[in-house]
Amino acid sequence: MFYLERLPCPVVVTNCNGHVLHTNRDFRQLVAPENCDYLDSYFPPASRIFLHSYAWPMLLKNGEFSELYLQLLTTNGQLLPVMTNARISQTESEQVVIWVFFVAKERQRFEAELLKARQHAQEAALQLTEVNTELQYANAQLSEYAQEARIKADKFAHLSLTDPLTNLGNRRALTRNVKQWMLTANSQSISSLLLIDIDYFKQINDRFGHAEGDNVLRNVAQQLLDSARAQDSVIRHGGEEFALWLPNSDLEGATRAAKRVHQHISRVQVAGESITVSIGVSSMALNGHEAGILLEHLLAQADTAVYEAKALGRNRTICFADQSQPSCLGSDNVEGKALAESAHSLPDIHRIN
Ligand code: GH3
Ligand code: MG
Ligand code: MG
Repeated sequence: MFYLERLPCPVVVTNCNGHVLHTNRDFRQLVAPENCDYLDSYFPPASRIFLHSYAWPMLLKNGEFSELYLQLLTTNGQLLPVMTNARISQTESEQVVIWVFFVAKERQRFEAELLKARQHAQEAALQLTEVNTELQYANAQLSEYAQEARIKADKFAHLSLTDPLTNLGNRRALTRNVKQWMLTANSQSISSLLLIDIDYFKQINDRFGHAEGDNVLRNVAQQLLDSARAQDSVIRHGGEEFALWLPNSDLEGATRAAKRVHQHISRVQVAGESITVSIGVSSMALNGHEAGILLEHLLAQADTAVYEAKALGRNRTICFADQSQPSCLGSDNVEGKALAESAHSLPDIHRIN
């Protein structure tokens, strides 16, 4: 049985009754007592019962079994877990059983480590789930903050472009609209501006109070919106002054718009009497100006025209006409200032009191 010694694991050879015929050195080093006649002697009682009730019957039935878990009694009296393979083999003279043992200690250690690793993995997965939940919560909060910030930013943007009393746009909003228009306009594109100043507004405040004055400003704003086209911009320019900007509209169109404004404003009444406005009109081709400069020119000219309208008695429209523009409605220039007064059907002056 020289070959038994060459096998790298403990081996026992028995006959089919469990009588030990040979053992190799690995086996002898492993178990106690060293010389037993019967295989049973190498096992503790529990393994012996398993051997007889299960392993032997299976072996005799199938001629072999593999990887059955048993325990051997070691030289130092401890129980050694082993995986056991057995096979019936025919020799020249008799049938023998070759028992091969694989020490399961290492395997158990691996299994224990595997188990530990699995526990760690489960713990890590649990922690990951917790972290993930926290992250989702933080993410939801962040979205909420972002949403709030967006709403606030929109609100600030709206406030920065809006007059709070009348809810009309302001000068910044007008500049933005002009810039927008310039994207599609060319240098010959004409736009016009009406500067609309309420006549004797201070007297409304003085006689009826500031709140009533505010009311009038809101009503005027609404009438201006009603009189404007969809593409026009109505803004509160400041105090009791408003501006109506008309893209792609020349002096003639602007004058028509001014007439509409006078008509609409007459609907605003204080103590049963209509209020009036003085309007300065200015019209210009784009001519390569940038939005801010174009607006400055339009406003400066319209302001000059308003000043003239006031000087001429209020409740009227004066057009500012430079040399390159046809004068407004072709009517009188005032003191050679290239200003023309429009004819509108409303009375020249409306005074309150
Ligand atoms: P004119 O016909 O020359 O334009 O006279 P006016 O009284 O309309 O103009 P003036 O510039 O003398 O007075 C404008 C007044 O508008 C003075 C100011 O107190 C008032 N005002 C400006 N802003 C507001 C506002 O937001 N609410 C109210 N109620 N009054 C305002
Ligand atoms: Mg004014
Ligand atoms: Mg005024």
